[in-house]
Order: sequence, then structure tokens, then C-alpha cells
Amino acid sequence: MKWEKILVRYGELSTKGKNRKQFINHLRNNIKFSFVDLPNIKVHAERDRMFLTSSDDEEIQELIKRLPKIFGIQSFSPVASCTQDIEDIQKTALEIMESLDTEDKTFRVTVKRTDKRFSMDTYELQTTVASNVLRNYPSLKVQMKKPEIDLRIEVLADAVYMMAQVIPGAGGMPLGSNGRSLLMLSGGIDSPVAGYMLMKRGVRLDAIHFHSPPFTSERSKEKVMDLANQLSHFGATVRLHVIPFTEIQQSIQAQIPDNVSMTTTRRIMMKIADQVRLEIGALGIVTGESLGQVASQTLESLTAINAVTSTPIFRPLISMDKLDIIDIAREIGTYDTSILPYEDCCTIFTPSCPKTKPKLEKVEFYESFKDFDELIKEAVENREVISFPKKKENAFEELL
Ligand code: ATP
Ligand code: MG
Repeated sequence: MKWEKILVRYGELSTKGKNRKQFINHLRNNIKFSFVDLPNIKVHAERDRMFLTSSDDEEIQELIKRLPKIFGIQSFSPVASCTQDIEDIQKTALEIMESLDTEDKTFRVTVKRTDKRFSMDTYELQTTVASNVLRNYPSLKVQMKKPEIDLRIEVLADAVYMMAQVIPGAGGMPLGSNGRSLLMLSGGIDSPVAGYMLMKRGVRLDAIHFHSPPFTSERSKEKVMDLANQLSHFGATVRLHVIPFTEIQQSIQAQIPDNVSMTTTRRIMMKIADQVRLEIGALGIVTGESLGQVASQTLESLTAINAVTSTPIFRPLISMDKLDIIDIAREIGTYDTSILPYEDCCTIFTPSCPKTKPKLEKVEFYESFKDFDELIKEAVENREVISFPKKKENAFEELL
């Protein structure tokens, strides 16, 4: 099927005024970023919809495959065009039907006759096209209310446009329309999902990972790099800050009683994340914490961890069940990487019985015997920063 263009409908239609303008600008830029390898794509944005065209047919096909990943799109439709000649209209209608699964589907034709000089009236064109389609696809059933296939025909002065599919988009808001946050990215299942959820609300991400060689291997770092790379496939560069964490973990192990060392580790991670956040101009910190999942994720623990900063901490998974989180991880393609068996710095240093209800005053008391500030400063300074997607890579290869 040769498509003329793609009609894109915006998500979150409630955004108004200046916000709407920015929404559209971000969406336009993100589409250009995601499709740099398709040089002939042109974007034409209107107030309440957008058209994408290309002189190259293959580019349009590629676009149809990839558009469902772009945030801020409610739905989109490939549009075909032909002349006002009725033969041409019939032929195009059949070609569109040919590209669809029509078996036992409900069907109607909708006509919008914008060019009033067109020789047939609306009803005549509608019945002419519908009866021809039904002759060729006898299993279709006509249904005027919410049919599965609505073949829409719009007659304009210069051409006739036709479409039948409404393909769902990713929804959400265009990346960049809600600022930047720093994602605490472990190698697990949860944090990539948390990052994805913030990205879907238009938040650009940097990611931070705490790495403790030789207790955690190069493989476990590569796994996190893979996850950061996969997140960048949703339409924006993701920078990963890898923090050398070994010395701090050893020092915690030596200085802090076992049953609260986990809480202290989290608190120091949070302090480091907050410093990096400040340096990169991000406004919030994102984690994959989910209430009650493990000892460090009780309300008492979260309170003790939270106490080190007044920066907003976003925990989009806080009320979600693990199985629902896994479903999203599968959907966004991070699950298979997340379940690779490489060790995490926290699991290695996890004491056998961490306190599930640590008292903040107690934790602060134990921490007061050791000044971690110098170690924290060094860790921030000595971090390694890696950008994804890697240059020259087709960012979408793995996902398709
Ligand atoms: P995940 O599946 O994201 O690893 P989890 O269920 O294993 O989460 P925890 O190990 O308690 O839970 O981690 C809670 C959150 O703390 C993670 O979701 C992540 O945001 C952050 N985190 C844990 N370990 C690290 C790490 N090594 N580097 C960066 N962030 C981390
Ligand atoms: Mg984990």
C-alpha cells in the first residue's frame, strides 16, 4: 500500500495555550530525533493534529512501525490519496481494504465532502464505495455505530484523502515537556520501569548507578548500560553516571551496625544522587521502590532514606504489585536484560537481618561517628559518564 502521509493525533488534548504550543514543539523535535536516520520525513504541525510525509515509501513504512513508541501521540492513521475520479476512488478504497484484516469485521464508509463541487453528493459517494467494497469482501458486516473498520473519505478540491486505521499511540506527553530528573538505575526489574513511567509523562532522564568493583563485575555494569540504552530508545539521549561505590560500602560495613547498614547505604546513595542531580540541573530523583517489597521499602525505611534531602523523590511504582511491574517491563523490552543473573552491589553487602523498621534517630546516631562527606565528594567527582544511544547505532534495531 502506498501511503501519502500519516495523520498524528495529539495526546492530552486538555493542554492549552502556551503549553499546547510547547507540547507540539517538543513532539516535533522528538520525532525528528527519533527519525534522524529517515532524512526525507517532513513534519507539518497544526493546532490539533500533525502530518508526517516523506518522498520515500519505505520511510513511511518504517515510521508506521516506530511511531507507537513516541510519547505524546494519542493515535495515528496512514492516509492514502487519489484524484476525484470515481474509478480512482474505488481502486484506492479496495487497496486500503487489502492492507487490513477484514475477516468478519464490522464496517462502514464515512464521507466528508469538503469540495461541494464534487459530482456526487455525500450519500451517493458513500453507498457507491460501500457497495463496491462489500462485493469484494462479502464477510464484512455493515454497522453504522462504532464499526471495527471505518473507511473515511474526505473530498477536497485538489485531492481525495482516505484512511481506515486508527493505530493507538503511546499516550503520555512529549519528552522534554516536563523537565529533567535523575533515575537511580539498578540492574533490577523495577527501576527501568520507573524511569519509563516518568519519561512517559514528558520527563527527560539522566541515570545514576552505584558500582562496587570487584564485588560487582564488569558484566553487571554492562547490564545497566544496556538498560540505559534501552530507555534511550524512547526518544531521547540518556546519560548514565556510574559512581565508584566500593570504598563507601566497605566503610559502611566497618563503621555501621549490620542491622541498619542497609539504611545508611540507601541514605548515602541518595545524598550522592542529590549532588549529581544538582550538577546536571535536574529537579527530581526517580527510584523503583515499591512499598513493602523488601526491608528497605517499608514506610519507616523510606522515611529514613528520604530524610537526607528535600528534593522531590518520585516513586511511580510505590503502590504497584510486582506482577504488574513485570508486565510493563516485558512490554517495554527491559525484562530480559533485568533478569540476567549478575550481582547487585546491595545484595552483596546486604546483612542477613536488616531492620525493617529503622528509627531515623538511631541511624543518624550511628552515622555521626563517621564523616562520609569526603568519600561522597570523591565518589561524585570520580564518576564515569556514558551517553546513550551510542553514536552511529540504529537506536531502534533491538526493539523491532
Ligand atoms: P530494582 O528492581 O529496581 O533493582 P529492587 O526491587 O531490587 O529494585 P532495591 O534493591 O531495594 O529494590 O532498590 C530500590 C531502588 O533503589 C531501585 O529501584 C533503584 O532505584 C535504587 N537502587 C538500588 N540499587 C541501586 C544501584 N546499585 N544503583 C542505582 N540505584 C540503585
Ligand atoms: Mg535491585
